[in-house]
Amino acid sequence: MQKKIKEIIKIIDENDNFLIVGHVGADGDSIGSVTALTRLLRIKNKKVRAYLNRDTLAPFSFLEVKGEEFYTDSKKLKADISPNEYILITLDSGNLERVDLDPDLIKNAQSIINIDHHEDNSCFGKINLVQADRAAVAEIIYNFAVEMINSKLPFAIAEPLATGIITDTGALRYENTTSRVLKILAELMDAGVDIYKINKKIFGSISYKALILKGLALATLTRSEDGKIAWLYVSRQMMHQAETDYTEGLVSMARDIEGVEIGILFTEEEEKEIKVSLRSNFYAEVNQLAAEFNGGGHPRAAGATVEKTLQQTINLVVEAAKKYV
Ligand code: AMP
Ligand code: MN
Ligand code: MN
Repeated sequence: MQKKIKEIIKIIDENDNFLIVGHVGADGDSIGSVTALTRLLRIKNKKVRAYLNRDTLAPFSFLEVKGEEFYTDSKKLKADISPNEYILITLDSGNLERVDLDPDLIKNAQSIINIDHHEDNSCFGKINLVQADRAAVAEIIYNFAVEMINSKLPFAIAEPLATGIITDTGALRYENTTSRVLKILAELMDAGVDIYKINKKIFGSISYKALILKGLALATLTRSEDGKIAWLYVSRQMMHQAETDYTEGLVSMARDIEGVEIGILFTEEEEKEIKVSLRSNFYAEVNQLAAEFNGGGHPRAAGATVEKTLQQTINLVVEAAKKYV
């Protein structure tokens, strides 16, 4: 795999123009990796553009991602970039549908470098660096940074990398928390990163409105007869009532119940567009369950979008989940 990292670094060295993007509904790993790689390539004096969805950026405002550093307006990016002038680097996206970018901008790329850690990655790039044993894409980008920067890692790169790792390991609680991850975090702390601050922002604080929504969601909690599957939902009406659509952290309430193997959150994004978030504890491979509904992800955290009503989706997914417990 080290060979592939070297191959990508060679492409970076030999080319000048890059566009970096993460996945739809970006999380801390997506935003952190895009931020860190963009800054890394800028240090190397590359012409690099990055697109970050404005709607997902707010919880990560502590990263001081400046407006002028990234594009948050897809139309503006499209106007500023010419077809075939750039190499597209996609981060944390298991397939092309997950890539958070205007389809024309995907199509018009000179080539695609796909860097990811989902084992079900469809290898849609010209070059695919897919390392499923890495806790976060940020862990992979850390390895690029170490190879490409000879001096101490700048704080502006270390902090987004730590954010990605902390997000995807659930603040170092999930089973992807390897000793390698802890060593990297120690290095990032030595570069000035305040782990407490990041943990507090991502896992240790919640807006008042989001807590109201959490209460409404918790009131919908249901368990299968054997107690191995637990689910809750968030309807449009509930989001309207709580005045927020922030659902981060809700699915773990179902997953964390004693005796539960699979926890599910159903979010009614539109009347017939239900986002299904799946989490498991010890053995259920929820990425396979997600694949039954054209989704994907990791064995312990996966998702899909189902175009049926909320109740139809709950019935279908819970029934399918029973095969896995
Ligand atoms: P979420 O429940 O949105 O936090 O997603 C958990 C994981 O599932 C993410 O890390 C994604 O890799 C994956 N995932 C979520 N939604 C989808 C989807 N529609 N298609 C493929 N993978 C997904
Ligand atoms: Mn992600
Ligand atoms: Mn990730």
